[in-house]
Amino acid sequence: MTGIKVAINGFGTIGKRVADAVDAQQDMEIVGVTKTGPSFGCDLAVRKGFPLYCTFNDEASIARFAEQGYDCAGGLSDLLAIADVVIDCSPGKMGDENLAKYKAADIKYIFQGGEKHALTGLSYSSSANHEQNLNAAGTRVVSCNTTGLSRTLVPLYEHCGSLSVECTMIRRAADPGDSKKGPINAIKPVLKVPSHHGPDVMTVKPEININSLAVAVPTTLMHLHSIIADLPSGHGLTTEGVLDMWRNTPRVIVMHGADNRITTTAEVMELARDIGRKWGDLHEIFVWEDGVSLQGDRLYYFQAIHQESDVIPENIDAIRALMGIEADWRASVAKTDAAIAAYYNL
Ligand code: NAD
Repeated sequence: MTGIKVAINGFGTIGKRVADAVDAQQDMEIVGVTKTGPSFGCDLAVRKGFPLYCTFNDEASIARFAEQGYDCAGGLSDLLAIADVVIDCSPGKMGDENLAKYKAADIKYIFQGGEKHALTGLSYSSSANHEQNLNAAGTRVVSCNTTGLSRTLVPLYEHCGSLSVECTMIRRAADPGDSKKGPINAIKPVLKVPSHHGPDVMTVKPEININSLAVAVPTTLMHLHSIIADLPSGHGLTTEGVLDMWRNTPRVIVMHGADNRITTTAEVMELARDIGRKWGDLHEIFVWEDGVSLQGDRLYYFQAIHQESDVIPENIDAIRALMGIEADWRASVAKTDAAIAAYYNL
């Protein structure tokens, strides 16, 4: 198989998932993934047949892989030299340093939500601004929370023509594989008000007027959003109309919590494991039908976000946008999701 040659810089939580999603597509392929040094994560790359490269270019760092039995194909520069686009999945806040390397290698680049919009001057979310990203040199896929907000707010905005939103992000303390973060027995308000999540939506859909607060809670499974959206008068929607809109929106799942006994994020993640994607991922945003209520012009709802995976399909659509091979976001989304479903025999 041949196609767009994709490099993954940083084969961690997001990097390994994006690599699998690229591998699932017909029009792109993984030419290599980087690790900083030998570790258990290298075994996955070997099993998948993804060429393994070192994050650094110096001989000593590269040689460490062989010492632990891994075949390292070279340093980051070697990988960038054979790729069309690099997906930067490094831990965040390394953008400036890495961007210089990508520009020097003259290839396209996609950063993740841990970097600021100012780094690239362009951000990405499939339904919000695919067209704006067509043929761009590089972009930033917005964070898991911002991706989640965009999924449900953009169609609402497209229907209403204006939207004013206040929301609270109830954030997981750490990813399941992470032992360094917390809190483990406290609720921690983010004392930067507003939090960056809401305003970050405006990097992909500036027409939506939105602010947010955030708190971190001791859970690893998902984030939960509590959202209040003020619709313009004359919007013509009902609660059922809003639900129907989301039922017809890609990558949104609407389910009745009480009727389906799926009333917490624990059951939502169990549903995700039943779906059968690797790692129990849930690419869709989960909306509780019985948690949605339109009262006059004010809409209330909750949604749950699988932080490790909702941005994965967006990265694939972003590759197609930058490479200019699919101008229609809906067509890209359909292609991405069908290929991933086929890959996992869903
Ligand atoms: P991670 O820590 O799980 O993985 C990062 C990987 O990059 C690791 O394999 C690490 O060894 C490697 N790395 C370290 N230094 C590097 C360097 N200088 N250059 C390249 N790679 C390096 O982090 P993650 O959770 O996958 O996050 C990656 C990005 O995705 C961040 O911007 C983060 O904010 C964003 N993001 C994370 C989540 C999430 O829930 N984990 C969700 C959405 C977006």
